[in-house]
Amino acid sequence: MDLLCEPASPATPPRKTPYVCDELWDGGPFKTYPIRKGKVGLIPPHLRHFLGPGTFPEPYHEMLYPTPKEEIQPFLQTWLWFGLLAEMLGLNEISTGVHLVESTVAAEEIRNLYASTVYISHDDSKQYISAKEVLNSAQVIAERQKFAPNLRERLIYICDCLRYTNFMIPSALNLDETVRYSICALGEYFSTGLASVVGQSNPKIEVPNLAFSWHQNYMKSGGTIEKEMLQRGWCPSETEKIRSQFQGLQTMHHISQLQKSNANQDHSSCTRHLCTAFQMDIETYQPSHMSDDCSCPLLTIDERATSLILHSTDTYPILRFDQIEDELDSFELVVEPYEPGVPYVALSHVWANGLGNPRANSLPRCQVKRVAQLIASLQDQVKVGQTEYKTQYRIWIDTLCCPIELEGKLIALERIAGVYRNAAHVLVLDATLTGLNSQDTHSAELLLRIYCASPWMRRLWTLQEGTLPRSLFIQFADNAVRGFDLLVQLFAAGKSDPRYMRIWQDVINAYNELQGFRSENGEAEAARPQLLTLQRALQFRTVSVVSDEPLCISTLMSLDTKYIAATSDAESRMIRTWELLSKLHGGLPPRLIFYADEVLSTHGWRWAPRSLLGSSVKDSTIGFDERMLRLVCAPDTLGIPTPLGLKVAFPGCRLVPHPLAADLSLHPWPGAINASEDQIIIRHEESGKWYRINDWYRSKKLSSWTDDERTAFDREQNDPLCREIDSGKSVLIYDERSRNNNILVACMALIENIPEDFEHSSINSEELNAGLKVHRTRTVIMSLLSEEEVRMMTIFGDLASIVAAYQETSNLLAITDRDSEEWNNCMSKIKTKMREVVAEALGSNPELVETIKNTIGADVDEYMWAYIPKIFSHTITMEETSSEQIWFVD
Ligand SMILES: [Zn+2]
Ligand SMILES: [Zn+2]
Repeated sequence: MDLLCEPASPATPPRKTPYVCDELWDGGPFKTYPIRKGKVGLIPPHLRHFLGPGTFPEPYHEMLYPTPKEEIQPFLQTWLWFGLLAEMLGLNEISTGVHLVESTVAAEEIRNLYASTVYISHDDSKQYISAKEVLNSAQVIAERQKFAPNLRERLIYICDCLRYTNFMIPSALNLDETVRYSICALGEYFSTGLASVVGQSNPKIEVPNLAFSWHQNYMKSGGTIEKEMLQRGWCPSETEKIRSQFQGLQTMHHISQLQKSNANQDHSSCTRHLCTAFQMDIETYQPSHMSDDCSCPLLTIDERATSLILHSTDTYPILRFDQIEDELDSFELVVEPYEPGVPYVALSHVWANGLGNPRANSLPRCQVKRVAQLIASLQDQVKVGQTEYKTQYRIWIDTLCCPIELEGKLIALERIAGVYRNAAHVLVLDATLTGLNSQDTHSAELLLRIYCASPWMRRLWTLQEGTLPRSLFIQFADNAVRGFDLLVQLFAAGKSDPRYMRIWQDVINAYNELQGFRSENGEAEAARPQLLTLQRALQFRTVSVVSDEPLCISTLMSLDTKYIAATSDAESRMIRTWELLSKLHGGLPPRLIFYADEVLSTHGWRWAPRSLLGSSVKDSTIGFDERMLRLVCAPDTLGIPTPLGLKVAFPGCRLVPHPLAADLSLHPWPGAINASEDQIIIRHEESGKWYRINDWYRSKKLSSWTDDERTAFDREQNDPLCREIDSGKSVLIYDERSRNNNILVACMALIENIPEDFEHSSINSEELNAGLKVHRTRTVIMSLLSEEEVRMMTIFGDLASIVAAYQETSNLLAITDRDSEEWNNCMSKIKTKMREVVAEALGSNPELVETIKNTIGADVDEYMWAYIPKIFSHTITMEETSSEQIWFVD
């Protein structure tokens, strides 16, 4: 594990890799080692082609009966660690009898390899592996490849060995994490190194893709690493973000070893999507002094001056710091209108750090002085080698430059994109970063702290502050450092060390995602930011004032902020945002109707997500991937917002309920069992296909619910799907793109009438005639029943008909008082009948018993009677629409 690089002061002691081998690597061909050792049975059938031509009849039982740790660990460490290293060093036979290095020399070198990597620890006198030799081996590795008769073939062969290793590792279940990830670290190190060699080759050598994922659940939810991180003060929303954002084992390990600078923050009530630690209460918020014992007076900016500039010009106010006399504490801030050519620094800060003030344009003088000093030293720093900015840098900070009075504030908001675009520099102030010394800290650590551990990266407002400017500096304890320079430094480090290259790849991806919002002149067609970019950037951010989100989206997507800001509540601002986004892109992704957990409540907009922030949904069941995928669509299938709802074209069906007999109601045995709607069974009569429908929300919550929570939910919901279907107006709209192994996602909705005289320019008369207006109620998961299940369900359907024809069922119909003894007697007879018919069916039909055992579980025979009232009180058939059915989903 020492191949994984760590910050200068890692959070935990290094995790050593135990040496567990029981023999030396034999120097034979890498791929056929399992054959030489008689262990082909350990190789999953889909990987056996790596062993070479031929068939391998050995059965594969690892999933059911994994090989014990004592046996699998020595085998895999010898093969995939020592064998892989020997391969890279050119010490293995490359085909029968062919060596790159003469065989006795190779054998000697392999023995030396053990001598230089295996050591005995003083602490426990046990043997461990050190990867230090690996880090010194780049030169030798490069030279040895040249011995090969054909370099390209050699590289393709190595690439194949790495892919083999990458596929093998997850199949081994009984591996200690240290053994597993030491192999992954080696694999990642060589894949990354090889990729850079290939990337820089001239002429270009074409080899297959080397971008394998080696982190393999390193930071998995609920795993050891995550648990340790949470204990040390990380937030569950941070580990979730890291998992979804990064791919490198090096990156994940480095992050996991960062000591949190704000470890005392309380994240106990945070979730995977929401961090509440930096949420401020606007009512009680107070700006803070530089130190707790300071009580200097507040410096207040006259709002009349800033408002006047905003109202009477098309520019915005900036501030000049004026030192009065020589006394350090004697200064003032002068309000000036911004004019092109006057350089200023705009501050981007986390309000929770104390530089905000929601009630007045004032800040403690000690803070103003510090800000002015930081900006002055930034100017000194930048001046070296640059003469253009001789004018003293002016200051822009939202707390002092945006008026509190509403009208002025709205104008300031409209111009906010210009504030960040025109700034000479934007300076980031985040308490977790200002405490770090940039000179003594590796660029990898600085960047990972910025991207993964800084509250600045998590706030919504700072997104635009970080993506719009030409020049972004981050303030550290000793210096302000340009963010881009850190990337350059890390790339330079990565050129000679693949470990840093892997981290750089992750960071540059995160960086590029944010660049999606930049357009040099503000309107270039090609640079128009996409909804995917927006969703990705917003997912893990939070905002204290809900109605600010539409304003931020507006700035980022270059929408008409004035139009959006003109309404004040979050709902109407979000409606206007969706409206403008649709105009900008010529429509909206239609799959939004399937994946939205909280939607707007205004008619016509009840399909539209209320927010794109993962944090603003209280009880989200839609993962990051689903949030992204819902926005993927072909340009000719866009949905169009209309007054009737989002106009989309999808296949679907009507759900038609049929009573068991003509004279019976849809639910002839009400209250026979408690409400617990875990599935609905529907059938398509023409094709004979049966489907199961599960409510998306309930399915996603099941694993985290206790039995009591589940029962309470079911009671409160009281068979919601069935009640909808009973209305006869229920439809399913299929998300065909989600179809996978006979499972697909669908939107369940209720048909509503279109007013007779309805007309609107967004809908032509043909669409109006053929289209169905529906109210979206829920997302469901549809799965095709197997033939075996269909046979079982058919039998239960028949049993239900028998009970329906039973005299007591008609008798029950006539009893009105459900609390009466009469009712109870009658119901109890019916239940007995249900038990009887089921017992009889089970007794005479061994195949049915087997199916129940396979699909529902063993020992459930005595509960199976409940299937009759639960699933077969009535039947439900599907009437499919055309594959291009027009829907107005609301
Ligand atoms: Zn948190
Ligand atoms: Zn003070």
